[in-house]
Amino acid sequence: MEILDNGIIDYKEDEYLLISGIQHFVFCRRQWALIHIEQLWNENFFTIDGLIKHKRVDNGDIFETKKKVKIIRSMPIISHEYKIRGKCDVVELRADDKGFYFSKYNGKYNVYPIEYKRGRPKIDESDIMQLLAQTICLEEMLGLRIDKGACFYFETRRREEINFTDDMRNRFIAIVSEMNNYYDRKYTPKVRKTSKCRTCSLKDLCLPEIDGTMSVSEYIEKRLRE
Ligand code: SF4
Repeated sequence: MEILDNGIIDYKEDEYLLISGIQHFVFCRRQWALIHIEQLWNENFFTIDGLIKHKRVDNGDIFETKKKVKIIRSMPIISHEYKIRGKCDVVELRADDKGFYFSKYNGKYNVYPIEYKRGRPKIDESDIMQLLAQTICLEEMLGLRIDKGACFYFETRRREEINFTDDMRNRFIAIVSEMNNYYDRKYTPKVRKTSKCRTCSLKDLCLPEIDGTMSVSEYIEKRLRE
């Protein structure tokens, strides 16, 4: 990391934000900051289950061809425009005469990213934003436009296809700008207790019960008395 004369922070590629953090950020800004700025992490059932399920995807062959589809697994991706990096669980190259020409395969293909998720589709758009972040990296790296992708959910065992709209792209830009802003300032938002806190892997470190109404020492004293 280098601070330029004009005050802008110039991050090295390996300091770019992790795409996997977008789901944390959409879930709770504070959770993301505790993990990605303060480097705190706490495993719970949901995070371990997710890791195990992702391992199953990652353990497949890196490259495979099925009929007219080439399948690439665990593909490293990066966007210098948005300063994000990560990997795609699966990228399908689907043969299509109207697709983009790939000289390596001497053929035209549409690019179709797929993200694997534990559980079922969520109410918030954390999964969509994560998939879109991957898509935007692929678009920047390959110099093309991708209109749709999918999230596969282990609980429903279904692929949910997502068509990327301009509204979604604008929300992604707003989210990633906010993340980079917090990251530059090393800013961790204060606790805001919500129903999400119940399943949050960081609730024991975040202490949402305090909710700005008492100090940590008052809270510990209260719990000891109970
Ligand atoms: S416990 Fe609640 S406020 Fe704290 S990080 Fe988790 S979701 Fe956010």
